[in-house]
Amino acid sequence: MKIFFQRTVPMAALIMAFILCGGCGAAESMPREEAYGDQSGEEMRRNTGQYAEGAWRSTDVAMGTVIQQTLYAPREEASAVSAECMELLEKLEGEELSWRLDGSEVYRINASAHEEGGCALPEDMALLLEQCMEISESSEGAFDITLGSLTGLWNIDRWASEGVQEVSLPSGEEVKEALSLCGSEKLKLESGPGARLFMPEGMRLDLGAVGKGVALSRLRTLLEERPEVSGAVISLGGSILTYGVKPDGSPWRVAITNPFDTAENVGILSLEGQWCVSTSGDYERYVEADGVRYHHILDPATGYPADTRVRGVSILSKDGLLSDALSTACFILGPEKGMELAGRYGAEALFVMEDGELILSEGMKRYFTKNDSYRK
Ligand code: AMP
Ligand code: MG
Repeated sequence: MKIFFQRTVPMAALIMAFILCGGCGAAESMPREEAYGDQSGEEMRRNTGQYAEGAWRSTDVAMGTVIQQTLYAPREEASAVSAECMELLEKLEGEELSWRLDGSEVYRINASAHEEGGCALPEDMALLLEQCMEISESSEGAFDITLGSLTGLWNIDRWASEGVQEVSLPSGEEVKEALSLCGSEKLKLESGPGARLFMPEGMRLDLGAVGKGVALSRLRTLLEERPEVSGAVISLGGSILTYGVKPDGSPWRVAITNPFDTAENVGILSLEGQWCVSTSGDYERYVEADGVRYHHILDPATGYPADTRVRGVSILSKDGLLSDALSTACFILGPEKGMELAGRYGAEALFVMEDGELILSEGMKRYFTKNDSYRK
């Protein structure tokens, strides 16, 4: 096991970056590097919300990442809806998706689905797992929610924790062993009422690749039940929801991070109404050693960080789970197979390649304006 120093952006710095960028006006939403680890929760939550020009703007932390909200609503209601959104995210993480928090569904599944009789699933979780298993199959296993043993071995969660000084990388043998415990095809799901899940001993779910996408769809449902909100942009690290209309009728502008300089963008998506944009990039969580970047998107075929000459993939879809799952899958599959996969789900894709080339699906070209200062 080799030990290296980490290269990550601490949470406090990320929050400052958002606050500083708050008035720059380049775009409503700028995907940024994410921060994960143990520091989510009350201790790290900093509500910087304020109301100006008909909109509530706030920066908080939830689901281990920075949450940036812009809500167009009357002054009295805006901050209350914003607080409801934060509550929704904290509950989703704490009660459903976290593999770390022992009150969550995923934690319970990981602890008990290998037992004889498997474990019972609430309807929402059964549906989510069914969708994930389907995407796993159609991506030929590139996207796989059963990689928990492998992501745990790589210790990805710790890579962006503040205060972590050293990171250890696993040996080839360890990778092989962890990989033998993974594989969506080994999951057995009995769906419908009284759904149950069966997993082999040692297998662990990791829903990190879809959690924020699921959150986008839940937030959209919440906003639909709050007619006082006429428009919104909510950014969860690399995943962004646009909703409704801006008071001046202009489109939402979502910047796509430049992987070569994450303070910059490669261009802007101009979007009308409700959309989900998810980005997976090798710059979000990584360590570097001997000139090699070990990032957090693992290829289930090898057990190592995916290497398909891709630096970042952004997926545009009406649905959050799809945009998030597909961005991860497409990163691993590369542009050729990835485009084909996204197309099958009616989603649009934008790849930033390691030589700087931008590869866009035909549909994506309608929404994307390249940044004049971005050079291949
Ligand atoms: P994303 O940033 O949405 O691409 O998600 C990356 C996260 O998903 C990682 O931090 C892991 O927790 C998990 N993950 C890594 N590789 C995969 C994969 N091939 N399929 C599904 N989840 C993965
Ligand atoms: Mg994803």
